[in-house]
Amino acid sequence: MRAIDKLKLALGEEIVRDDEEHLVLFSRDSSDHPGNSPLAVIHPRDVSDVIKAVDVLYSEKIPITPRGSGTSLSGGSVPTPNGVVISFDRMNRIKDIDTENLLVVVEPGVITGELIHKVREYNLFYPPDPASLESCTIGGNVAENAGGPRAFKYGTTKHYVLELEVVIKNGQVVRFGKRTKKWVVGYDIPMLITGSEGTLGLITEITLRLIPKPPKTYTLLAAFPDEVKAGISVSKLITKSLFPSSVELVDHKCINAVGDIIAPFLPEGTGAFLLVEFDGFGYEFEKQVEIAYDIFERNGVIDVFVAEDESTRERLWSARRKVLPSLESMGKLIRHEDVVVPRNRIPDLIIATEKIEKGFGLPITNFGHAADGNIHVNILYDKGQEDIMRKVVDRVMDEVISIGGTCAGEHGIGLLKKKHLRKELPPLSIEIQRNIKKIFDPENLFNPDKIF
Ligand SMILES: Cc1cc2nc3c(=O)[nH]c(=O)nc-3n(C[C@H](O)[C@H](O)[C@H](O)COP(=O)(O)OP(=O)(O)OC[C@H]3O[C@@H](n4cnc5c(N)ncnc54)[C@H](O)[C@@H]3O)c2cc1C
Repeated sequence: MRAIDKLKLALGEEIVRDDEEHLVLFSRDSSDHPGNSPLAVIHPRDVSDVIKAVDVLYSEKIPITPRGSGTSLSGGSVPTPNGVVISFDRMNRIKDIDTENLLVVVEPGVITGELIHKVREYNLFYPPDPASLESCTIGGNVAENAGGPRAFKYGTTKHYVLELEVVIKNGQVVRFGKRTKKWVVGYDIPMLITGSEGTLGLITEITLRLIPKPPKTYTLLAAFPDEVKAGISVSKLITKSLFPSSVELVDHKCINAVGDIIAPFLPEGTGAFLLVEFDGFGYEFEKQVEIAYDIFERNGVIDVFVAEDESTRERLWSARRKVLPSLESMGKLIRHEDVVVPRNRIPDLIIATEKIEKGFGLPITNFGHAADGNIHVNILYDKGQEDIMRKVVDRVMDEVISIGGTCAGEHGIGLLKKKHLRKELPPLSIEIQRNIKKIFDPENLFNPDKIF
């Protein structure tokens, strides 16, 4: 019997889909990878469906690509050729919100923004806020160790994962971690699985730490004539002991792409802006903002706009979140790079990308989580320009490494950055990581073509 028929027998035709329309829908993610058609897409309802599916797929030696919402920008959720996708869209329940112990138990398919809104009703806060939060899933965030604007103050997804239930080789299910705030009972396997991009197993339940919701936020937008001046201000802010929750940098091409949504907030001559947010009880906002203004003024700010109410604040953030979708709607292909450099080298990175842009003639835009030194360098190109685009990427990466940076901050390695990982990590480190994978996945079936 064909493997797909065995799966249909074990799980039902409604759970195992192999109609053409479905296969096309699940063949790509949000990166510029052209995609691969899977043999089938499985939509488990619960962990027992996942176990049954992995049991069949493992014995048939069929590659398995787990999938949340497919917003990966590195090709992480592109199916492996001749493989099957396990999509967690039906496993989307918030199982428990424990307001006394400040934790939440979820299935992997819960949409990140829904979780953030839900726990707010209890005056609780889940800080990781990828710009894709209205569509990406918590499972995808754990698998990618997603970050977001608030990572500078609050950390990334890995700082919130307490316990994971994971289905590994042959459909075995195992729990790692503990629901307590602290533990040192053995290796920190949840930390290892977080960011493993679906290569070690399938995450079927996640317990996340929550924190009390900060009562107040203060949001301002500082407009600069260019991105270098904005970039210089970022490290100055942090060295003055300010502790903003977010500092986002957006360059002039991104401003043009977002257009009308952001225009009312920007004075004439704006070539870049910083979106800066402080949160807390509010006692110290006045002093922090005073210091921030002083730094901005010394570095050539044109004007500072303060969001006086929640709806204006939301408009500014929504403009920031629309940067990537707006670039994508311009009709170009985009290679999304996600580099991290030491914060005080952001201006060097910007100058380097400007030179590379001039040299190769492909537009490059920069925006991102500047407080972390995490800049999304986006290379815009047309079909037929793939070779030039790859040369541009190589040059960008050489610059990043030469100033002490890394090729991936939060989007993972997936299919598209394997070459850069090999350049960045010593061979022994890669060998050890491959051996770790073999323990979870001796047949190399979980997202086998990703990372290494
Ligand atoms: C407009 C836009 C803005 C973005 N902004 C940010 C940002 O600010 N910060 C950031 O970090 N990222 C950002 N991203 C990237 C992306 O949203 C994140 O990587 C996100 O974590 C992916 O979640 P997903 O549910 O879409 O996962 P998918 O894309 O479906 O999968 C991502 C990876 O996780 C694996 N995976 C998914 N579910 C599971 C599971 N249950 N078990 C095991 N492995 C699993 C997949 O195999 C794949 O390797 C952005 C993307 C877009 C399109």
